[in-house]
Amino acid sequence: MSKPYYHAVGKEIEVFEHSYKNKIPFLLKGPTGTGKSRFIEFMADKLGKKLITIACHEETSSTDLIGRFIIKGAEAVWLDGPLTTAVKEGAIIYLDEIAEARPDVIVAIHSLTDHRRELYIDKLGENIKAHEDFMLVASFNPGYQKGFKELKPSTKQRFVALSFTYPEEKIETEILINETAIDKPTAKKLVNIANKIRNLTELGLTETVSTRLLIDAAKLIHSGLPKRLSVEVAVVEPLTDDLEIIEALRDLCNLMI
Ligand code: ADP
Repeated sequence: MSKPYYHAVGKEIEVFEHSYKNKIPFLLKGPTGTGKSRFIEFMADKLGKKLITIACHEETSSTDLIGRFIIKGAEAVWLDGPLTTAVKEGAIIYLDEIAEARPDVIVAIHSLTDHRRELYIDKLGENIKAHEDFMLVASFNPGYQKGFKELKPSTKQRFVALSFTYPEEKIETEILINETAIDKPTAKKLVNIANKIRNLTELGLTETVSTRLLIDAAKLIHSGLPKRLSVEVAVVEPLTDDLEIIEALRDLCNLMI
């Protein structure tokens, strides 16, 4: 498999390496599409560690992470969940959108996030010491607007935390070129459009243009779809369902590309 491409935007690589060395859990904060998952893939590869990613959602429970008994023939057989596997094997576990998960997930990771570094499996009555190389990483979308779940301060304080945001113009242009092989002038225009919309805070968008949306637009353009249409379907439409805002954004984008 080819190496994950990641363009550093600050000191995140250094910070992660030191957190890893000191066995401190790591929290990535920031809106969707800002490179959090890509960063962790890159770091796991750089450190030569296995990465186990769990996309948390409102049904994700501690059982899903720790494990469960399954019936095999006439017997109940214990099956390790991904967290238990990571703890035993010394992998990096990435709990994406941890605040979405059920509260018992937060309880389950507590003893892993302090000096104990152990996992309690209540169904087996066992405590497992984490492997030397085990690391817990989580992501969280602070969502400055309504509709996002919070993470308790007491939970946040168990992590080293770093905010991810949109890369500066030059870096974001480079990312677009690298990810999609689009030409530089078009990449620059896409980044300009994104920054223009990002500054329109009065629109009250729940989430604004992410690097991911720009990459989708660039891919469509690179594969031959007209530029304006590409921006409309990959950037404008996914952002909002409000017809007036769609029209206003479409006009704005048409002027800029
Ligand atoms: P998140 O996990 O924050 O939702 P992702 O890591 O999935 O976001 O990022 C979405 C896409 O944006 C990635 O697939 C990648 O193509 C691109 N991307 C964002 N930031 C970077 C970066 N700094 N370097 C390389 N690619 C990036």
